Amino acid sequence: MATTHHKVIILGSGPAGLTAALYAARANLAPLVIEGSQPGGQLTITTEVENFPGYPEGVMGPDMMAQFREQAARFGTQFATGDIESVDLAKRPFTLHSTDGDFTCDALIVSTGATARLLGIPSEKTLMGHGVSACATCDGFFFKGKKVLVVGGGDSAMEEANFLTKFASSVTIIHRREEFRASKIMLDRARANPKTEFLLNTTIDEVLGEPGTGVRGVRLRNTATGATSELACDGVFMAIGHAPNTAIFAGKLELDSKGYVVTRPGRTYTSVEGVFACGDVQDSIYRQAITAAGSGCMAAIDAERWLEEQHG
Ligand code: NAP
Repeated sequence: MATTHHKVIILGSGPAGLTAALYAARANLAPLVIEGSQPGGQLTITTEVENFPGYPEGVMGPDMMAQFREQAARFGTQFATGDIESVDLAKRPFTLHSTDGDFTCDALIVSTGATARLLGIPSEKTLMGHGVSACATCDGFFFKGKKVLVVGGGDSAMEEANFLTKFASSVTIIHRREEFRASKIMLDRARANPKTEFLLNTTIDEVLGEPGTGVRGVRLRNTATGATSELACDGVFMAIGHAPNTAIFAGKLELDSKGYVVTRPGRTYTSVEGVFACGDVQDSIYRQAITAAGSGCMAAIDAERWLEEQHG
């Protein structure tokens, strides 16, 4: 099978990867972006984005990513589709193996992102962006005066619930157990909020609604008794954690205890010289399109300077 060599390969095509591509392409590095299984990244599963500067009227997530891609392509970025199954970072050039062939590169930018954990029920996928969301910061604003549910019992669920009370008329936290993983301070804050209610020992079996008309409720199941019931609501926020997409880097790059790529503070250098990381794959805190794009720019500049040092 064919092997192609590139100065810079960027793995992942969300805001981080495509911004890295734009900068690398404008630095004449002719980068190759390997788009992965979800071209455009997590923004392609949201609807309207209102918090990315430069779009005063807001923009649809998939449209914005198409524009990012077009801008990167304008300066000579090449694109390959498909997933990388394994990487060899022990020697340079680095090698990336896919079912369609191998790629080698002098510098690698990892921007494989993170994936919001979901419940695994079909209706949450069908209604994602139509009343189901995995990001209160992104979508909370669309639920002014509405009744929403937040699923989870960790700090994310408490934080998202508190944030949503700024918009929603009521927020019900649905948690599958009676004990919480959330820290006491976050839990106390959620409990003290008059707009917040808790439904414990409860999971969601199905989200009810249609993409055209949105969410109208959920079918609940009591985890202690097995009893099912329906609850009317306008939105459901999944807050059961995120997982960085780093499976292929285990044992190859330093990862933290939650699997995020470790980068040098304030830079995009990873534990392997010549490999840089940007976006959600190395950020468990901010996880915003604008911060991902910013770190993508940093990764391209770091990679460009590092290549210059190597090859003069
Ligand atoms: P987390 O601590 O892993 O909590 C995930 C929650 O989702 C748990 O309560 C878990 O239930 C529930 N869950 C997982 N899978 C589920 C499923 N299939 N169905 C129903 N419920 C499910 O994740 P997180 O809340 O995103 O927090 C991640 C890390 O970031 C933590 O270290 C947290 O402290 C930190 N964080 C901090 C802040 C802050 O301090 N401001 C804010 C957000 C996050 P079980 O408890 O039953 O397992």
